[in-house]
Amino acid sequence: MKKTSAQKKYRTAIVFGKEMIAPCGMNCGCCLGYMRFKDQCPGCRMSDNSKPESCKGCIIINCDLLKTTESKFCYDCPKYPCKRLKNLNKRYSTRYGTSFFDNLTMIKEEGIDQFLKFETTRRTCPQCGSTLCVHRPFCLECGFEKAQEINTSS
Ligand code: SF4
Ligand code: SF4
Ligand SMILES: [Zn+2]
Repeated sequence: MKKTSAQKKYRTAIVFGKEMIAPCGMNCGCCLGYMRFKDQCPGCRMSDNSKPESCKGCIIINCDLLKTTESKFCYDCPKYPCKRLKNLNKRYSTRYGTSFFDNLTMIKEEGIDQFLKFETTRRTCPQCGSTLCVHRPFCLECGFEKAQEINTSS
């Protein structure tokens, strides 16, 4: 049975926008922190203080080299991919089946609009149409178990 809005803990009808895409390639729109109603995080690029401490002090969004890039994405940095980004990418690839390097390559080569379309497709539950959270292996609305996510456009 579908939950009523009063019972709901998560927003699951998210329309992804470019402001939600972090410099590292993370789509904050499918983050559990962004999707939850309680203590909702506004997303990496927002300056709001309601971000969790781990993301407020993130060494990537606060990186001095990032500020010098034209695109404000890590792929534009002379040190790309730096060690901190490699570590983050490894964690997300292993734990959540999502490669930030693939995301950044697509943004760079095909543009942000194409990436948003790709994200919308792969983050939509095939069973109920809700937004799928990158941090959970199942749909937060209907429980549909996600297959291994598709990480590249190929
Ligand atoms: S918690 Fe971090 S990754 Fe999640 S939405 Fe906020 S800034 Fe983005
Ligand atoms: S790739 Fe460059 S801009 Fe991104 S975190 Fe590393 S040093 Fe900073
Ligand atoms: Zn679903």
